[in-house]
Amino acid sequence: MASCPFCRLAAEGLPAHGLYEDPQFVVILDKASLGFGHCMLIPKQHVVEVHELSQEKYVALFLLAKAIAARLKATTGARAIGYSAFGGGLPQPSDGDGRSRLK
Ligand SMILES: [Zn+2]
Repeated sequence: MASCPFCRLAAEGLPAHGLYEDPQFVVILDKASLGFGHCMLIPKQHVVEVHELSQEKYVALFLLAKAIAARLKATTGARAIGYSAFGGGLPQPSDGDGRSRLK
């Protein structure tokens, strides 16, 4: 998708701040880092939210996250590695009625 910055990044290949690339994913250090070693695992397939990936790609993403975490921990000496899964369609704040937005 031409308007998606992650699709543009994936199409251009691994940038200077890139850590890893394979046919399905690109891993980059985040320019807006939340901390040392903060990186983003980006599917080359455009999805708005990570759970929209096929079962196989979703599993592959988290297996890659596991491998990257081990290498990050060894490289940075971090005490722990955390994960967050986002997409272009971040959840919206409560609709104001206090009810769960889960259906
Ligand atoms: Zn995209």
